Amino acid sequence: MLFSELAEMFDRLESTSSRLEMTDILAEYFSGIDPKYIRQTIYLSVGRLHPDFVPLELGMADKLVLRAISTVSGRSLSEVEDMWVKTGDPGEVAEVLTQSKKQMTLFSEPLTFEGVVDSLLKIESASGKDSQDRKTKILSRMLSDSGPLEARYLCRIVTGRMRVGAGTMTVMDALSQAFASKDDRPDIERAFNITCDMGLVAETLAENGMDGVRAIKVAVGSPVKVMLAERLRSLPDIMARMGGKCAFEYKYDGIRVQAHIRKGPDGFVKLYSRRLEDLTSNFPDIGEALAAQLRGKEAIIEGECVAYDPAEDSLLPFQNVTHRRKKHGMSKAVEDVPVRIFMFDMLYRDGEDLTLKPYPYRRMLLESSFSESENEGYDRLGYSERAVIGSEEEARKFFDTAIGSKCEGIMAKSLGQDSVYRAGSRGFLWIKYKKDYTQALVDSFDLTVVGAFYGMGKRAGVYGALLMAAYDPDTGRWGTACKLGTGFDDAFLAALPGMLEKYKTDKKPSSVDAEMVPDVWFVPGLVLEVTAADISISPIHTIACGAVKEGAGLGLRFPRFTGRVRDDKTPEQCTTAAEIVEFYEMQDERDVESVEEAERASEDGPADE
Ligand code: ATP
Repeated sequence: MLFSELAEMFDRLESTSSRLEMTDILAEYFSGIDPKYIRQTIYLSVGRLHPDFVPLELGMADKLVLRAISTVSGRSLSEVEDMWVKTGDPGEVAEVLTQSKKQMTLFSEPLTFEGVVDSLLKIESASGKDSQDRKTKILSRMLSDSGPLEARYLCRIVTGRMRVGAGTMTVMDALSQAFASKDDRPDIERAFNITCDMGLVAETLAENGMDGVRAIKVAVGSPVKVMLAERLRSLPDIMARMGGKCAFEYKYDGIRVQAHIRKGPDGFVKLYSRRLEDLTSNFPDIGEALAAQLRGKEAIIEGECVAYDPAEDSLLPFQNVTHRRKKHGMSKAVEDVPVRIFMFDMLYRDGEDLTLKPYPYRRMLLESSFSESENEGYDRLGYSERAVIGSEEEARKFFDTAIGSKCEGIMAKSLGQDSVYRAGSRGFLWIKYKKDYTQALVDSFDLTVVGAFYGMGKRAGVYGALLMAAYDPDTGRWGTACKLGTGFDDAFLAALPGMLEKYKTDKKPSSVDAEMVPDVWFVPGLVLEVTAADISISPIHTIACGAVKEGAGLGLRFPRFTGRVRDDKTPEQCTTAAEIVEFYEMQDERDVESVEEAERASEDGPADE
């Protein structure tokens, strides 16, 4: 197959923002190609060669790509650079410039799909002496053989700037349209949620149909999308929703980790964050302890890693454990910041996929799976504190003890037969209740930055405010929820441009709905935690548009940055449109005083009213 066929399909995808049209384009393409190309098509559509959890990136330095375009086009480096700065898109530069030289190249051969994948794999694995030269040569060779569209996508792929706009939901719709029926869609989604590998699911479906997809099981080494909790505003509401009886666990404030453990000669331990980053080297002590204490051969467990003070035997606030997320100086951080994992779930043990088993069974297996013998580091492991609760009084007592033990709140967990591990979904089988809910605001929001406004006065020269968006999983789009200008300190404001640089784009991203026009646009990437005094119907903001009032969205009033960058969340894991509607509906019952207090805490007042 020619690479140009893929480039043309990407171009068609990019030229529409309609999800239905994207689905049709993808479905038509999937059904028309040899199944052996499907897996890589899916990875390449987001600029990768592997599923997200494999920590290998093409990420070729911009200067090398500049050099390759300059060599192939015969233009000077500064000419190429000027155009790059003007358009902000290496793809566009390559598309335009490489053509002038192309017509003069006699020996070019059409690029094949396999040839491109092979060359990209070589770029990805090039290391050591001369690797920069080798990468530039490989790219130059491909560019001199490529047409304008192929050049556009090659340069976007190698620099990590692939954004054709089709999210995972659209890809799954297209797959069921091409190879199955609408009724099969939930099984396709489950297969993706338990493998986090759309390439694998798509290839299996194209080659072996739905029987193949249904046979996909949880496996050690392949992360499972995490299950998430709903929230309710009071303990009585929780007890009622749970039918009067459920389990309560402490809600620890740390970093969620999914541990994949295999013992024996082919053994390994891998720790994944909830956004599938590999955290193994951040918690080597936890990994070792898990492997040493595991009774069976293989397991996947989940827990929260929390910093603690061994002298006082008490938990430390979240900020402490973030030292373990550093890229450098880990061995010192491991020494300085003791961490304990509080295990709360088990997804797999020795060949048994537990995700469809009820929670009490999973928890029972979890608690019998780790030895208590006092090997080195055994005290790094613990189980989340837990009790079965049958009355409001017990619930209140447990909550108070959790807060007294420096936890964020409690997690209520259903004990019913249907209390399966719902990979990748947020539901009422788990309900969270935090200390915050009893105070000013109903929880915080995790929003992604989609725009920035240049600062004025003392913020001149840096971004003064940000346009923040929430996610709508039903449409696969982001809608704006507030303009955020409060809660930033000088150091954060100075660091912001650097943090946002890689998400900069010259026009509004096609996946974002916005009425407000910022000075700079960003594709969804950076996620920040924000509190607000209130949610109101908004004529300017676009999230949950039409859900409460026709033609109007919802907006956060008096938003304030909490200081917490949610680098453990992807922009798809932001607060959702449905959650914002839920917050809106919940707030009627809140007391007015707490709203006023939050308003006072917001120095600048509402940025966009
Ligand atoms: P939050 O920002 O409140 O942590 P979230 O969106 O990250 O929310 P939720 O599912 O809404 O995730 O809340 C549950 C989170 O609480 C989990 O992701 C996990 O990190 C943490 N947690 C702490 N203790 C527990 C526990 N005992 N059981 C499940 N999750 C727990």
